[in-house]
Amino acid sequence: MNNFVFYSPTEFVFGKNTEVQVGALARKYGAQKVMIVYGGGSVVRSGLLDRVKQYLQEAGVAYCEMGGVQPNPIDGKVYEGIQLCRREQVDMMLPVGGGSVIDTAKAIAAGALYDGDFWDFFIGRAKVEKALKVAVVLTIPAAGSEGSGNTVITKTETLQKLGLCAPEHLRPVFSIMNPELTYTLPAYQTACGIADMMAHIMERYFTNTPDVEISDRLCEGTLTAIIKEAYRVKQQPDNYAARANIMWCGTVAHNGTCGVGREEDWASHALEHEISAIYNVAHGAGLAVIFPAWMAFMAEHNPAKIAQFAHRVFDIPKSEDLEEMALAGTARLKHFFRYMGLPVSFKELGIEHPDIDRMLVSLRRNKGELLGNYVKLTMTDCREIYRLAL
Ligand code: NAP
Ligand code: FE
Repeated sequence: MNNFVFYSPTEFVFGKNTEVQVGALARKYGAQKVMIVYGGGSVVRSGLLDRVKQYLQEAGVAYCEMGGVQPNPIDGKVYEGIQLCRREQVDMMLPVGGGSVIDTAKAIAAGALYDGDFWDFFIGRAKVEKALKVAVVLTIPAAGSEGSGNTVITKTETLQKLGLCAPEHLRPVFSIMNPELTYTLPAYQTACGIADMMAHIMERYFTNTPDVEISDRLCEGTLTAIIKEAYRVKQQPDNYAARANIMWCGTVAHNGTCGVGREEDWASHALEHEISAIYNVAHGAGLAVIFPAWMAFMAEHNPAKIAQFAHRVFDIPKSEDLEEMALAGTARLKHFFRYMGLPVSFKELGIEHPDIDRMLVSLRRNKGELLGNYVKLTMTDCREIYRLAL
């Protein structure tokens, strides 16, 4: 196990009706004026937005608002938000929604206190030194952004989809998580969220770092729980226990717990970001296509950990032939994704002829010559993985 620092100080307020506490919590963390950020309207239709406003008013916290954030959020909304936030002298960002809304709010939080272009942070030209506080009301378990210090934004002009990691400044001070708010999710969005949280665990799980039994078991246990509860949610979308378990899994998957003391991979996320940047598909759906292809590639090149995953998560019997075990586990994962209604190939994703050359050019520009850690992938390897996903 490698040395590590684990500091993950978000206050999670989890359970039925917890959103009524939003005003009191905002006050507790010193907010005078918050900026509510939301997406394409699901929180308007559900009435959640109005209720959040009411709870803020009752607690004496002023607010302004910005809606219209789209899935795979873009820089335009960040610039708009930075302007609004400065004009209104906001001191806390309050995204009400999923990863796209939260990530937009985080980028605004950093950009509002920076003199230059916020995009400098994403291309490594500047480091986040300070940011407005971020607090969350979560409506979809998926990205794990409610407990992470990360944000992912797409620059429209270049179609670069890049992540920024600044946990000291961008990790939410509190996150309200009421599983009942997720009953209204379309089955496809639920499934995309499940694929994303599984990918967050697997990016950490597939490592060469030895002696990581505790985090291996945390990863395997959380993956097993997700799969079990995913079947239940598919049958009964308003099953509270299943929704609650899935929701907390999404946070545990990405708040750092599963990755301590080990080298992480993240090649599949980088490969996927090129797909959702260019074709604007749901991130989780892109991952359901890419991750099995990445695993099939690894079955040939470094099967050990994939075989362990196959045995411990999908009960594939142990055998001397690790490649065969790894491929059997990959097939089971694909089968699970299919059952959930997810695509497992470019074709099923609705992209008959993906422009692999274009994705590789962009990948190299964004990430350099080598990708990931479990096996360091060349651009030729990346081409092969995209090809395996056809
Ligand atoms: P999302 O893009 O925030 O939302 C997906 C869709 O679900 C939207 O159309 C949204 O509708 C709808 N929705 C959300 N809650 C709903 C509810 N309770 N009922 C009905 N519909 C609801 O989903 P996400 O998967 O959480 O976020 C995806 C983004 O996060 C991607 O850009 C991905 O790359 C990024 N990401 C970030 C991190 C990180 O650490 N920051 C990690 C992984 C992925 P409305 O717009 O109408 O609300
Ligand atoms: Fe993700």
